[in-house]
Amino acid sequence: MLLRKAIIFFAAVVPLAAQGIPPNPTPAQVKPSPVADTAALSREALVWLAQLIQINTTNPPGNEQAAAKYIAGVLTREGITPELLEVTPGRSAVVARLRSSAISDPSRALLLVAHMDVVGAERARWSVDPFGAVMKDGYIYGRGALDDKSMLAANLAAIIALKRSNARLNRDVIFLATDDEEGGGDASIRVLIAKNWDKFAAGYALNEGGEVISKGGKVQYVAVQASEKVAVNVAVIAKGPSGHASLPTKDNAVVHLTAAVAKIGAYSAPVHFNTVVRRYFEGLAAVSDDEIGKWMRSLDASDRGEHAQRVIADANPQWASMMHDTVAPTMLSAGVRANVIPGEARAMLNIRLLPGDTIDVLLGALAKLVNDPQVRFEVQPNPGLAAPTSSLESDLYAVITKVASQEFAGAPVLPYQSPWATDSAQLRLHNVQAYGLWPFPVTDEDLARMHGDDERLSVASFNKGVAVLLTIVSDFAVTK
Ligand SMILES: [Zn+2]
Repeated sequence: MLLRKAIIFFAAVVPLAAQGIPPNPTPAQVKPSPVADTAALSREALVWLAQLIQINTTNPPGNEQAAAKYIAGVLTREGITPELLEVTPGRSAVVARLRSSAISDPSRALLLVAHMDVVGAERARWSVDPFGAVMKDGYIYGRGALDDKSMLAANLAAIIALKRSNARLNRDVIFLATDDEEGGGDASIRVLIAKNWDKFAAGYALNEGGEVISKGGKVQYVAVQASEKVAVNVAVIAKGPSGHASLPTKDNAVVHLTAAVAKIGAYSAPVHFNTVVRRYFEGLAAVSDDEIGKWMRSLDASDRGEHAQRVIADANPQWASMMHDTVAPTMLSAGVRANVIPGEARAMLNIRLLPGDTIDVLLGALAKLVNDPQVRFEVQPNPGLAAPTSSLESDLYAVITKVASQEFAGAPVLPYQSPWATDSAQLRLHNVQAYGLWPFPVTDEDLARMHGDDERLSVASFNKGVAVLLTIVSDFAVTK
């Protein structure tokens, strides 16, 4: 706790040089694949990461334009021509391409995607300035250190390394920095694709969404996101007569709403498995302790499958989320005065559907459960769209598996269906084999800081991730 106070004092806009980060690093020499020295490149990429963290792109409003210009500057200095694609006034994505031949074949191209915006930070709850890029105890701290500026910096490093090495490419490599990923609104990849698909059309993509989970300094497993759940917000609306609070009646909207929310909170949707989830648990069983591993192997068993599903769901909310549609009540509103019974009370549900499940079926089940004519459900605008799963047989998936297994000392590489949404769903809807590869080894404890307080990434982990990403990209796109 004492330490925390000292850090707050120290953190007020510390220049990069004072934190041991050189402001203008000497460019690293990277040889063609296999890449020889990634250490110098990682040091440069750490500066890009720090400077990107220092550009506040909290969404809303995003202000990604400043980050876009910064990235464009880095690319231009390397002789790579960036293009700013304005999505809405003042919000631009950045795209840049290394060509493999005079005529592009989009179906072969590899797209490296990362988003520039970040979620908000509650300054008072952080031990350092969330936008200071403070270096401490071998970590870089800051909003976006995990999500997603590390990936942005690693993607920059990959395309720059290819350019510097004059690598002969067998497919175009496209860099794309997106806006409004956290908002999913008018400046998001959905709109960017609608306006500018020809600028970055690709058959393959690497994006955030996966995980490299490390424990006690050893990588336990690598999760490669091939599919994701679908987010839908639904309002629950209870109506009743409004009136004087001295004369309460049983049809009070607040009472009906809270009873409905309590029932919804206790609801557990039916279990559904797809290939990705099956293979995830099969692989994870191999590195889990005997007891939990036994249940992971039994999820499909006709006799004890149901019990196994309950054990696994209770053991870890993320595992539960991979097997079920989930419903989380997140907002409540009712009333204007303490002595007035309101005529309406509302709750918001954040629902995450398994791909393939539909909101109508789930709401049918919830309506039956609530069983109250005073309560209705209203699906909110802009629901997520279910996308096809990326192939587990593609050339890119094979390269990711091979390189990750090699780089992480034989750790199992598992396909993963993330509970959270990423830009990849929109890409998959455009026939892109998109994989969530977030190549930085992290502990569960550090991962929990994503979107939370004191978000941080260890420098060693960042360096490793830069090297892994570059190896994958080189292996896939450079002619041997
Ligand atoms: Zn993200």
